[in-house]
Amino acid sequence: MKRWLMDLLACPICKHHPLELIAFEEKEAIAEGVIICPVCQRWYPIIDEVPHMLPDELRAMEDLQFMKKWKGKFPEKILKEGKPFNLSAKT
Ligand SMILES: [Zn+2]
Repeated sequence: MKRWLMDLLACPICKHHPLELIAFEEKEAIAEGVIICPVCQRWYPIIDEVPHMLPDELRAMEDLQFMKKWKGKFPEKILKEGKPFNLSAKT
């Protein structure tokens, strides 16, 4: 994903713009990272350069694996309170 895309992206749930971006791996584009909505605390993974910005009902638990993989790079608040998944969940 190219950084300029952040100028266009809004949260699919609450429509907030702008969103926060944390790049985990970046060359010419962001290969892996996370997009965070500061209003509703939702987070959206960027995997293989593609941002996955889906509504909650279409989110897969694989996203949680993504969060675990990059645990050290996620903000603490999102690890604990991020939606729709976080590491506080007792699942
Ligand atoms: Zn939002």
